[in-house]
Amino acid sequence: MDFAFDARTEELRAKLLAFMDEHVYPAEAVAEEQRAALASPWDTPAVVEELKAEARRQGLWNLFLPDAEYGAGLTNLQYAPLAEITGRSPQLAPTATNCAAPDTGNMEVLSQFADEQQKKQWLEPLLAGEIRSAFAMTEPEVASSDATNITTLIERDGDEYVITGRKWYISGAMNPDCKIFIVMGKTDPDGADIRRQQSMILVPRDTPGVTVKRAMQVFGYEDHYHGGHAEVVFDHARVPASSLIGEEGGGFAIAQARLGPGRIHHCMRLIGMAERAIELMCRRAASRTAFGKALAQQGVVHNWIADARVTVEQLRLLVLKTAWLMDTVGNKGAHTEIQAIKIATPRAVVDIIDRAIQLHGAGGVSQDFPLAELYAGARTLMIADGPDEVHQRSLARRELKKYV
Ligand SMILES: Cc1cc2nc3c(=O)[nH]c(=O)nc-3n(C[C@H](O)[C@H](O)[C@H](O)COP(=O)(O)OP(=O)(O)OC[C@H]3O[C@@H](n4cnc5c(N)ncnc54)[C@H](O)[C@@H]3O)c2cc1C
Repeated sequence: MDFAFDARTEELRAKLLAFMDEHVYPAEAVAEEQRAALASPWDTPAVVEELKAEARRQGLWNLFLPDAEYGAGLTNLQYAPLAEITGRSPQLAPTATNCAAPDTGNMEVLSQFADEQQKKQWLEPLLAGEIRSAFAMTEPEVASSDATNITTLIERDGDEYVITGRKWYISGAMNPDCKIFIVMGKTDPDGADIRRQQSMILVPRDTPGVTVKRAMQVFGYEDHYHGGHAEVVFDHARVPASSLIGEEGGGFAIAQARLGPGRIHHCMRLIGMAERAIELMCRRAASRTAFGKALAQQGVVHNWIADARVTVEQLRLLVLKTAWLMDTVGNKGAHTEIQAIKIATPRAVVDIIDRAIQLHGAGGVSQDFPLAELYAGARTLMIADGPDEVHQRSLARRELKKYV
């Protein structure tokens, strides 16, 4: 078993690490200052566009897309360590490299399932980083971790579809650059097969009947860097029938295909977030003294740092194994491992960031360190993309099948 990265990955890692040092970390404070001066907090600070231009110039662009026709053509195993690096600055680096959710998942859906006209209209500007997008599935009224509960209607009316429903926590939708929603709804709510009732449809933001109502908060944060998480109402919004992605009834299958890569990308970035937390923890421990001793000399701090390092090494191996399986036997064959990393990574990273916060005292929960925001981001990943319990249920059932 060879644990080394291949030559292409090493080359991109070196480039990306230099890009982070030279451009991304210095831009963190600049972006904060610029955002404070913007007319709307949802507008994009100028420094983000500068980062995008520089990343593109350096070939650090669309790294997530395995299809070389559209993206960098990297395998999951090659992309994993790169996504980890971008996770160290989750507000800026994924957007700078055009590798930010939910655009990544949406671009994957469009590259795999959209027709030529849909690709031209929406995939091309997304690949170029000219517009942003959102994925609208979750609804406040129903338990949306079970996609068969979705109630939004997509009704055929002549040459059009009419969309009616209310969604929330739609990431990215507060950003005015978010021009397109991929909406999951039901075209056949009474159909016999509950997994064939759903379809996905493209709904432009400026469609009459579409209202982006408000920004939902996450632990009191509005998450400006990720375009917020909006409540969006579709009130008899009409789009041409050609806006459907794939066929009627195909929505459930597309959703499944979309989530495999999305989940592993989140886990890769989470490991980067944990690495940042460990670095901050060590720097702080080395520079603060309490009761006559550097914090770095306290046994409890040693335990926190050692445990964090051990955990990150374990998680990284599991994520890399999952990436390798996705490349070699496909997302279906890697089902158990994808669920395992989705269960293991957010909760372990939450724990590491929590220790780092503790070590920083009040500073840990303040806006002067990235820890509080990292914590909020990692904690929500125990819910978003399917709550832990849903993955535990399905993983345990497969395990039990061997015995019952
Ligand atoms: C920051 C953030 C960003 C998000 N971005 C998006 C987005 O861009 N687009 C989008 O469509 N959605 C998005 N979501 C929504 C997210 O996908 C849903 O919150 C998630 O799927 C859970 O659905 P729900 O909130 O309706 O919870 P419910 O389905 O009501 O579940 C609530 C809880 O019930 C328990 N539970 C559920 N099923 C089981 C089970 N089988 N066994 C045991 N316990 C169970 C779990 O503890 C679960 O957390 C986002 C959420 C957050 C927090």
